[in-house]
Amino acid sequence: MRLGLGAKFTLTVLAILALTMAGNTFYYLHSSTRFHEQQLLERGHALGRLISLVSPEAILGFDFLLLNDYTRQMSSQRDVVYGVIMSPKGVPLSSYIDDSDPAIKQRVKSTKSDDIPKLLRDLDREAGLVRLEFPISHNDAILGRFLVGISKQSLHDEFRRQLTIQMVVWTILVLFLSAAIHVVFRLKVLTPIQALIDASQRVGRGEHSLVKIDSADEIGLLGQAFNAMAEEVWQKQEKLYRQANFDTLTGLPNRMMALDRIHQAIQRSKRNRQRFALFFVDLDDFKSVNDSLGHAVGDQLLVATGTRVRAILRDADTVARLGGDEFLILAPDIDNEVQVAEIAERVIRAISEPQMLRGLKVMARCSIGIAIFPDNGDSLEKLMANADNAMYQAKATREGSAIFFTEEMNTRLRDRMQMEQDLNAATESGQMALFFQPIFDAARQVHRGAEVLLRWNHPEKGAVSPADFIPLAEATGQIIGIGDWVLEQACRNWSTWRASGIEPGFLAINISRIQFRKRISQRIAELISLYDIPAHAIELEITESVLLDDHRHVADELSALRAVGVTLSLDDFGTGYSSLSYLKRFRFDVLKIDRSFVAGLPSNSEDVLLVKAILAMARGLDLKVVAEGVENQPQLGFLTVQGCDLAQGYLLARPMDEAAYVKFLHGRQVDSDSVLRLAAVRSRQRRIGSSN
Ligand code: C2E
Ligand code: MG
Ligand code: MG
Repeated sequence: MRLGLGAKFTLTVLAILALTMAGNTFYYLHSSTRFHEQQLLERGHALGRLISLVSPEAILGFDFLLLNDYTRQMSSQRDVVYGVIMSPKGVPLSSYIDDSDPAIKQRVKSTKSDDIPKLLRDLDREAGLVRLEFPISHNDAILGRFLVGISKQSLHDEFRRQLTIQMVVWTILVLFLSAAIHVVFRLKVLTPIQALIDASQRVGRGEHSLVKIDSADEIGLLGQAFNAMAEEVWQKQEKLYRQANFDTLTGLPNRMMALDRIHQAIQRSKRNRQRFALFFVDLDDFKSVNDSLGHAVGDQLLVATGTRVRAILRDADTVARLGGDEFLILAPDIDNEVQVAEIAERVIRAISEPQMLRGLKVMARCSIGIAIFPDNGDSLEKLMANADNAMYQAKATREGSAIFFTEEMNTRLRDRMQMEQDLNAATESGQMALFFQPIFDAARQVHRGAEVLLRWNHPEKGAVSPADFIPLAEATGQIIGIGDWVLEQACRNWSTWRASGIEPGFLAINISRIQFRKRISQRIAELISLYDIPAHAIELEITESVLLDDHRHVADELSALRAVGVTLSLDDFGTGYSSLSYLKRFRFDVLKIDRSFVAGLPSNSEDVLLVKAILAMARGLDLKVVAEGVENQPQLGFLTVQGCDLAQGYLLARPMDEAAYVKFLHGRQVDSDSVLRLAAVRSRQRRIGSSN
């Protein structure tokens, strides 16, 4: 059995009190008994001396009646159980025996005779009797002895009575004292301790709990120390809770808290048969804000976005920052889609309101994906995935818009996942192949090299365009393996062609921004040395998206590539940011005008202006220009007149597989030989002309 502190304390007090009281009682009774015994003896002695003093006269006068009188006097004395006057020879002369006394009664019964000396001898062994003997003498002659027996029975009885009374009194006293001490102990110690225990349990459960302090004693001090500790724990817990559940920059709930709120919303909405909407809000081009205006402005924009969105929503709605430039809104109790669309519209309007951040006017935009419970999923994972999916759809369709999730998106998502799986097997099972699209000198249409274009022959879908699978491979990271395969394959092809005596010109290989992060310069250096390719025969086509990444790393990689000696070409120029500052900061050799600008030449005045401007700028920066997607003669004519260096397009040659390209190269070999011969003849003619 487990005893509580109160029980232990009370039992200890009880035991101490009981022992103290018992000791005290024992001492008191012992002294009192000794005192009464002493009195008894003194009484016996006084009586004995009196009898022995008055008896000689009666003995000498043989006055037995008087002697009997004396002994009878004994019977009136309390506690005297016998009084016997004996002759010197031990013959009783007179005697009083109180045979009502239990000890004597028993001896008399066992002796069964009137033999007083024998009875007295027997009584000598009786512990409850005090035996006194007084000589009776006259003029120094012994006349006899007076024997007195005094019983201690009444003493014992008195002792027992006193003991009983004391026991009762002390027991009552001990119990009363113990109860009183227990009550005080409970009130002053146990109750505050219990309050401390309860409060610690609440603190343990993460609640904020303090105890009431109403004394200045040790318990009060303990309570004060506990309160200080609980306050500290609470503050630390609060801090941890905030760190774990709130975003430090915006102060909004973070992903973890958002997930928890969605989870609760699902439970509640299931119970109440209600709908709620989940909005995935993603800032458009946030990266370029960070890159062009700095991270401090980027941070301020995120804070401002959080504040604005929070301000236009109801208190019951949750706004959370999921990370980066992604926010989430949870709007409970939704009646219809119109209401949801209105919320999305309000959010788009609030975010796109121009604002001054650190003295700069910033206009942000966002794309929103919406999923509704339970229509678009009844689990947290499904809702999140669907809202995310819708957000990507919004971004892909038109930035700055909001899109509701549809089942069709799911199908697309499933297709995408299937394609991801298929891509994994594609390189190993030889479904990937390289195509080559020749690039020509624009003015003279002399073949200079080719762009390497990846082709995927899907076993079921047939030819899949790189425009469809490259973005997916970039998103999943599969582009690293695929891109490396392209690089190696292209290098191998070049060196095989060269070994067979063909002059392949340069090969322009497209490099994804994801590949660029993986120290591409080292790999290229390895490959060109392995396949013994002159560095200038390899051109790397990089899109502007690469330049948006970590500037320092990009600059370092570009200079490393420059050191290797490969040609660097900026692909799809005009479609991205087309920032002049990029062109100044990172040095390129070639600029490729995107085919969307070439398409409008020479009739579309805007395209004409733009292409002219690009060409002028390229000349200024000493860059060669390749025009992509040249499909007709007027385009080529315009480009040639404007001084575009190189041209690529269906007009000149379509992308072709390796066998076709080898054939093409063989044909060109003849052409280029004749061109060379023609050039040699012309220069000879010029020399002859000048000498004339
Ligand atoms: P890009 O680098 O701009 O490649 C040029 C694209 O324009 C190619 O499309 C080519 O077939 C197409 N094209 C060439 N001439 C004409 C023309 O006269 N008219 C029209 N309408 N189109 C023309 P393709 O092969 O479908 O490639 C699309 C994009 O896929 C490429 O654009 C490139 O960004 C990417 N890509 C292709 N291969 C690779 C690769 O190996 N690695 C990486 N990272 N990306 C690749
Ligand atoms: Mg390209
Ligand atoms: Mg291009």
